[in-house]
Amino acid sequence: MNSWIETPSQSDFPIQNLPFGIATIPSGKTVAVTRIGDTVIDLAKLEQMGILNNSGFDFGEVFGQPVLNQFIDLGKEAHRALRRRLQEIFSDTNKDQNQKDTLKTSAFHSIDSVTMRMPVKVSDYTDFYSSIEHATNVGKMFRDPANALLPNWRHLPVGYHGRASSIVVSGTDVHRPNGQTLPPGADQPVFGPTRMFDFELEMAFVVGKSTQLGESVSAAQAEDYIFGFLLFNDLSARDIQSWEYVPLGPFLSKNFGSVVSPWIVTLEALEPFRVKGPVQDPEVLPYLRTGGLRNFDIQLEVMIRPDKGEENLVCSSNFRHMYWNICQQLAHHTVNGCNITTGDLYASGTISGPEPGSYGSMLELTWRGTNPLTLNDGSSRKFIEDHDTMIIRGFCEKDGLRIGFGECKTKALPSR
Ligand code: MN
Repeated sequence: MNSWIETPSQSDFPIQNLPFGIATIPSGKTVAVTRIGDTVIDLAKLEQMGILNNSGFDFGEVFGQPVLNQFIDLGKEAHRALRRRLQEIFSDTNKDQNQKDTLKTSAFHSIDSVTMRMPVKVSDYTDFYSSIEHATNVGKMFRDPANALLPNWRHLPVGYHGRASSIVVSGTDVHRPNGQTLPPGADQPVFGPTRMFDFELEMAFVVGKSTQLGESVSAAQAEDYIFGFLLFNDLSARDIQSWEYVPLGPFLSKNFGSVVSPWIVTLEALEPFRVKGPVQDPEVLPYLRTGGLRNFDIQLEVMIRPDKGEENLVCSSNFRHMYWNICQQLAHHTVNGCNITTGDLYASGTISGPEPGSYGSMLELTWRGTNPLTLNDGSSRKFIEDHDTMIIRGFCEKDGLRIGFGECKTKALPSR
């Protein structure tokens, strides 16, 4: 299927993608949007024009809201009906020239003319720790090289409750955090800016349906409760983390900022890219068992761009490496009756692959600073420096179809 909207050949956003986001358009209004190629499409305008009527759903005012939560709450049937209707309207089989002309003049905006906003209101955010390569690397560095994985790791998807208030959209810059650290060899902590500012390459799924306290979501039903995915950069301060994290896990080393990409790519768009996950050994408990293809083949890249410099590719990984899949994560999270809310974010944990160039954090890439990276301007990096921009990109490719996420970008500003 092709669109009558011009779509560059390597675009992340062909008509098969149709991601959802929130944008402030040139008139100053903030509305729900989708995107084909570099054209942003105002969904509130489409609804006003009446051309979504024969989708079979009444979308009311949901596209005029400043976040997507109300739209997502309409449920999978509504999302699928809208997707089908959008594909009809924007497919090159649509011969209604009047309709196309009206759309072009009243509902289309170039990506450069809009400001993308936080797509959802996030009530709760959880970060998992589901890459076996990442957990093994961190265990080796922070604890015991011989017993890097703790005894629970292969039995449950380890996670912690993160901070929703400091999740920001791509393009928002974040200051180097201050905090307490224990310098090497010292017996007393000091206060000051982190010296180990880091990124974490992650993806997050967006909850598509709320539950009541006491309800559980089974692994088999879990995908009914998942709307789609974002790219996620879980900014981290490693020296603050290693001093504070025992015994209750990360706290101020993680909650000073996390960055999401602005476009939510739906499970429907990712359907062609399903793959089997790694073999789980030992076998997991019955409530965590899943069948079928529950992982996704999503290529991931991290770039570092120094101030006024060029982009440097520092990591190439893939979401398919995840040991624990999203159904297992959601089943585990709710098995005790913990309730979830539409718009919640559940991040994967750092996505490291088996090769050194596939590690998803500076901590692992430079092995805690002992093996610095050299950038193409000749400078070296143990961790992120002030004015460095971190850019995560992600895309799937198969049989000539490319579905992507765009980018998740943030610059490290000096400490305050
Ligand atoms: Mn993380």
